Amino acid sequence: MSYGSVASAGSDSKRHRVLPVPKAAASMKTFEPDSSIVSDVIPSPNYGDRNKGRLPDMIVLHYTGMPDVEGALARLCTTGTDVSAHYVVLEDGRIVQCVQEARRAWHAGTSFWAGEEDINSCSIGIEIVNRGHDWGYPDFPLRQIAAVIALCRGIMLRRNVPSHRVLAHSDVAPARKKDPGEKFPWHSMANSGVGHWVQPAPIMRGESLMLGSISDDVLHMQQALAKYGYGVPLSGKYDGTTMEVVSAFQRHFRPDRVDGVADHSTLATLEALLASLPPETKQVASK
Ligand SMILES: [Zn+2]
Repeated sequence: MSYGSVASAGSDSKRHRVLPVPKAAASMKTFEPDSSIVSDVIPSPNYGDRNKGRLPDMIVLHYTGMPDVEGALARLCTTGTDVSAHYVVLEDGRIVQCVQEARRAWHAGTSFWAGEEDINSCSIGIEIVNRGHDWGYPDFPLRQIAAVIALCRGIMLRRNVPSHRVLAHSDVAPARKKDPGEKFPWHSMANSGVGHWVQPAPIMRGESLMLGSISDDVLHMQQALAKYGYGVPLSGKYDGTTMEVVSAFQRHFRPDRVDGVADHSTLATLEALLASLPPETKQVASK
């Protein structure tokens, strides 16, 4: 694959490092970045209008899940791939904007959160460069996380995004997605005011709900997950979908053990999260 030169949106001082940019995007009209900490604009053709003028009030975090940044940028910025994101955060902390925040980027796919299915229309999508589970899943460098924090803080202020609506792709699509995964430092993010987090309850031996369980306790857990925002059946039956949602919950909020088994630690962490939601957060319709 061949690349043209980068379309820099910043001042000349920001041109010193050249990013690989797909040929198709090099000819696209550039735009003013929405955030002052964006170092480069690489316009993607893959976007549309937000449905019914919906304003974004959610941030969805992803990892790129590809072996290298060149391939990831090419995929996000090439016509026909049907994927894009508003921002890409590189491992060295540089931030690239590909789609204007006012537009609807195509990052979430089939998703659900808190009664809404068109997550692309209500969210800002941020791709964090990381090879992901299929390619060794390295740790996220600190300077990359610092950049994600700074970017999210700006978006939260400008767009009035509450902390509990800064989510993982796996939260809104638990059956299909694992990103950004259990190595993503949500606790560090929360220490800087980004995302909703409580210290996970300690993992101990004891009774657990798991695949195959049928009980009122399972129903209560499903109701609690649905109240937090997850798309989960309210059946009282611990089926495969329920297990995927519990795994997604663990990846985000109890990352020391991601096994889809609702042990005491998982359930206590979920209760603590619900108890610490802002009071105006209304109970949401389940899927
Ligand atoms: Zn994703």
